[in-house]
Amino acid sequence: MTIPTWGGRRAVDALNQVKAEGRRNNTPCCLCYQDINYSLPSTEPDGCTVQHIKSRKLFPELTWVPSNWAPAHKGCNESAGSGSNLRDPGVTSTDW
Ligand SMILES: [Zn+2]
Repeated sequence: MTIPTWGGRRAVDALNQVKAEGRRNNTPCCLCYQDINYSLPSTEPDGCTVQHIKSRKLFPELTWVPSNWAPAHKGCNESAGSGSNLRDPGVTSTDW
């Protein structure tokens, strides 16, 4: 069984799902715990992106499991990916 890599149409759908839920629940960023403005486009540094709680690298089988998704600022997501300021080594960046 092969796992499709993160990207394309499915990742956009996942992002939309995370944003819809985050907006509904006012979910803060899972990395910095500050509010996310869900109205911003996801290309903005403060926009919402999908963070994989368990990294895709270590847990590829969880790539498409919605319970493994959490909203994070784009900027936070990217800085987590650099390996700096990680609270949890299991949290790594996604390039949705
Ligand atoms: Zn953040």
